[in-house]
Amino acid sequence: MINMTIAEFYQIFGQVVFVAGILLLVLLSVTLILGRMLIEKDRLIFPKLLLFTMDVFYGLFKKFSESVGVDAKIVDHIGVEVRNKVNEKVFQKIQPKDTIIVLPHCLRHLDCEAKLETSGLVCENCNRCVIGVLKTKGEEMGYKVFIIPGSTFLKKIVEKNKFKGVIGVACFQDLNLGMMELSKFSCQGVPLLRDGCVNTKVDSRAVLEKMGVKLKEAKKLAPKSSCSTDPDKRGSF
Ligand code: SF4
Repeated sequence: MINMTIAEFYQIFGQVVFVAGILLLVLLSVTLILGRMLIEKDRLIFPKLLLFTMDVFYGLFKKFSESVGVDAKIVDHIGVEVRNKVNEKVFQKIQPKDTIIVLPHCLRHLDCEAKLETSGLVCENCNRCVIGVLKTKGEEMGYKVFIIPGSTFLKKIVEKNKFKGVIGVACFQDLNLGMMELSKFSCQGVPLLRDGCVNTKVDSRAVLEKMGVKLKEAKKLAPKSSCSTDPDKRGSF
């Protein structure tokens, strides 16, 4: 009798696991399709579903993408796009004084002499890289600008500062995970055009536009290269 009950239990358990597995596969497939639609056609459908999958099944979603022949990087790309769209309206109402800008220190010029302190890199705007331009313009507008080497610094910034909005620059993965961690704030992210540990690149015009700089002025401010190693080009912005 007991054996029968255990057998029945395992049978039901197996059926539940099977159905849950099928539902999970459907969820991941739908999220991937909707995410691609967002990236390729700029159409956002069921943002809450996308965020749910991203936040709860992040690792699994990456493995699933790879298993169906899609580069796992798409998961972070989708995450950044969804969070940008979902936060956009609220973010635009937040004043610069209530917003922080977080830039990665890998954008700095290879010859950068700025010192690293507890709040991050202390950029002196030597005119060698894009960080100086963004920091100067940002502070002029009332933003607090941080240039940080990693997520430990981000935690300290959150602890020590009061703010409502965040403009972040990072590679897709760091940006998505950072925006996930800061989900109680209104975040806008700009992904790096070229990532890595040093000599990275960002579309500075996109950052300036997130800051609310008008397109014409953003074009004038944006350097041609965010991290030129050519001495002739230094100071060209
Ligand atoms: S502008 Fe760039 S290279 Fe110059 S101090 Fe600032 S971060 Fe360093």
